[in-house]
Amino acid sequence: MNTRWRPLKTTTVTGLQGERLGLWRNHRLWFIAESGYLIDGFECRPGVHPWQGEHLGKWLHAATLAYQMTGDERLEESMRSFVERLLATQDPDGYLGTYAADCTFMAMPENSSVDAVHDDMDASKRKKLHGGWDTWTHRYNLYGLLTYERAFPDERIVDACRRMADLLIEVYGEEKYDLTEYGTRKGISATTLIESIVMLHERTQDQKYLDFAEHIVNLMEGNPALKLMSIMLQGGAVVHPGEGKGYQLMANLLGFITLHRCTGRTDYLDAAINGWREIKEKHILVTGGSWSRKTDYNANCECFAHVEDFDPQKVSVEGCCDTTWIQLCLHLFEITGESKYIDEAEVTLYNSLYGHQHADGVKWCYYTAPNQAKLPYSDKIQCCHSSMPRAMEMVAANLVGQFDGHLTIATLSPCSAELTERFGGGRLVVKSGFPKNASAEIHFETECSQSFVCEFRLPAGTVLNTLSVNGETIQPTRNDRGFYEFKRLWQNGDVLKVDAEFELHSHVQSGENGKHWVAFSCGPNALAQKITTAPTDEPFAELSAEEVLRKLRPSADGSFLVQGTDILLMPFLRTCTEESGPRTYWRCK
Ligand SMILES: [Zn+2]
Repeated sequence: MNTRWRPLKTTTVTGLQGERLGLWRNHRLWFIAESGYLIDGFECRPGVHPWQGEHLGKWLHAATLAYQMTGDERLEESMRSFVERLLATQDPDGYLGTYAADCTFMAMPENSSVDAVHDDMDASKRKKLHGGWDTWTHRYNLYGLLTYERAFPDERIVDACRRMADLLIEVYGEEKYDLTEYGTRKGISATTLIESIVMLHERTQDQKYLDFAEHIVNLMEGNPALKLMSIMLQGGAVVHPGEGKGYQLMANLLGFITLHRCTGRTDYLDAAINGWREIKEKHILVTGGSWSRKTDYNANCECFAHVEDFDPQKVSVEGCCDTTWIQLCLHLFEITGESKYIDEAEVTLYNSLYGHQHADGVKWCYYTAPNQAKLPYSDKIQCCHSSMPRAMEMVAANLVGQFDGHLTIATLSPCSAELTERFGGGRLVVKSGFPKNASAEIHFETECSQSFVCEFRLPAGTVLNTLSVNGETIQPTRNDRGFYEFKRLWQNGDVLKVDAEFELHSHVQSGENGKHWVAFSCGPNALAQKITTAPTDEPFAELSAEEVLRKLRPSADGSFLVQGTDILLMPFLRTCTEESGPRTYWRCK
């Protein structure tokens, strides 16, 4: 079954998005490539960390997307070298991990005891590399290699992926061991394999891989502590399946989307959409970060908690969750073309995810919190640090495209994209100050005139004032996917001018002990006060959210002064440094 969104090749990305991509491409990308850590664990087994093997696949994914935009020859050579070195470490039986022989998933296919499994967060007890994360490494090997192979077709790579998957099937296929008995959180880490296995099916068209992916879903349904598919179909909470482990739960929803893509089965899509909606309504902050918290009914601070347990001082946002949430949004957009998915991906990218990234280009935060006095950036090689560039590259690769024959402009951020012949050839150039403001000029630098429907979306919390082409006002219609569309004969030199503005909104969040907090956004930008110490006052505790909102006075630089106070609310991202942090949520009545 074909998906309907087809991105057009992004050729340049500038503005804030370009700056942030540059930080990763010029700094972190090489920092990790030159560290040795990507390949050492494979070449000298055992590696030094239980999920060390994930980093190469994640890096290959992000680096391939970067290469596809930049054509950087040094990067091409570096990727090629890593792929060759990785393939050279594959065992004759297909094994391609970082574990010692007595700890591989073949040697320990199911958890023998809880002690034998490394917790998601605590890999410090490194007496010995215990089991639990070996299939995880294979999930990322498959993902990274298959992404790379799309750009650089090579049957040897496909063969290596087949042999990895065949070994997994040998151990976890029909009538074999139960994959959900492997690793942490009731198996939800191990079952993230689904997406990668379906990617292999899509590449090879081999039915056995699709069968294996569906077998994994059946195993999940047979495990009362998982049952993610049926719980999502029944509109249930994301707090319990797999102990509500945020990153992995969303990665399993990605698996359901790929299964829908291949089988056309609507229940897979419905499960993913219901999961998305549940997370959006109950677990996403105004910054777009998905919050989690340790409670007495879940395992650790990376697990979703009920709304009643929200407290801005006690929740955290894992960087991997930002990435997986953005992936979920992008893949649902790919299928449905609904603008709300890109709205959400954009909010997360421009607030929470960029907030995790340090301005030196190397350091990242594993966790952030909506209210914290300073951010804990580090240059360590950790899961989140390797996940977040993937989301940045995926968004950048999906800015302009086509949907149902329309030219679909999914961003107002400054960029350019190649136009296909259908749209007149040449290129499309978006000029704007986004995300500082909402207005944009879209220039058609085409080779020939073509008649087609052009559609664009406005960012979250944004209203359209006027729309014009070459100075002539146009009345667009808003289609049922949330895009503004109109048809005309497009010619070289045409300029589509979008005059729009951000709206100020308040967001009320209830939580622990029946308390309420308010947060604010201006367009897609969350607002926060820049603080350097944890505040002890609650200046708005006696006011309603609406009353606080009415006190906000705009200043020229995009900030808002709260009338009668010296509190300045600015775009969230500006508060995120090593010396300062955001105060995003405020107690209210
Ligand atoms: Zn992480």
